[in-house]
Amino acid sequence: GKSDGKGQYRFFDPSLYHQIKSRTLLKQHLIEAIERDQLQLYYQPRVDTHSGQLCSMEALVRWIHPEQGVIPPLDFIPMAESNGLIVRIGELVIAQACAQLAQWRAQALPLVPISVNVSPKQFSHGGIHRHLEAQLARHQLPASLIEVEITESAMLGEHESILAQLEALRALGVKLHVDDFGTGYSSLSQLQKLKMDVLKVDKAFTSQLGLSTEGRVFFQAIVSMAHALGMTVVAEGVETAGQLNILRDLGCNEVQGYYIARPMPAQDMAGLLQQLPSG
Ligand code: C2E
Ligand code: CA
Ligand code: CA
Ligand code: CA
Repeated sequence: GKSDGKGQYRFFDPSLYHQIKSRTLLKQHLIEAIERDQLQLYYQPRVDTHSGQLCSMEALVRWIHPEQGVIPPLDFIPMAESNGLIVRIGELVIAQACAQLAQWRAQALPLVPISVNVSPKQFSHGGIHRHLEAQLARHQLPASLIEVEITESAMLGEHESILAQLEALRALGVKLHVDDFGTGYSSLSQLQKLKMDVLKVDKAFTSQLGLSTEGRVFFQAIVSMAHALGMTVVAEGVETAGQLNILRDLGCNEVQGYYIARPMPAQDMAGLLQQLPSG
């Protein structure tokens, strides 16, 4: 605390107190939300740029709050990352994605992979590959039906524990995606050494397409280098027909974004699966 000038110290900062109190409250609410099954996955399609066919879907978590409605992940994931709850949430996400695939299979729907977001904290905690392996086995699903997205910045340290776990995931047969590519400082050769399968170019770059030549040149460079290194390129945040056309011209493999479809609850996704050519 600070001296108040009379030889006493002020330990009590009311704004800090309220901050800590509300953070503790939020953590408590989030634990209850987990226990009450209020964290639910929405799914956003990822489609082939040329055929428009569904390739995969990204699982995006939402907090379905009884009074406040649908709370977006950015309102609770960062907090969960700082207080450790993200490990539990990460396990819940993997378990829910696997259970969903098994349910769709039981309904005789054609399946495509689900990609899940994994936070760096889940890696430092360890054991994600074991949890995933157990969930796949529980539902008798092939590992090819789950993909893992890791942000570029999470891989920056190249910590031994992260490398070992990427290796373990790959050994299971899981495809690895670099999320938010372009926002960190990794080089494509680094990512290739890590044997990443897919580059998801951050939506900040997609939004530049059509607005500036630089945006297009940047994307073009990424696509040609990634292809030379054997990686697939996905553009995220595609919002207009114009962006989609440019991406098609540039040979970007797959696209995801509001122009194609917004993230949707599982029952709406089932409708899209039904339209897939079966077998
Ligand atoms: P992200 O992994 O980069 O996910 C893409 C975000 O962009 C999603 O936001 C998605 O709804 C949004 N988006 C998709 N298409 C468009 C578009 O055309 N335009 C724009 N402006 N946005 C688009 P969302 O669902 O709010 O998720 C935000 C972030 O929260 C995610 O970013 C991811 O980092 C994190 N997150 C979501 N679910 C999970 C999870 O299960 N685990 C972890 N660790 N993080 C998650
Ligand atoms: Ca993602
Ligand atoms: Ca992303
Ligand atoms: Ca992001």
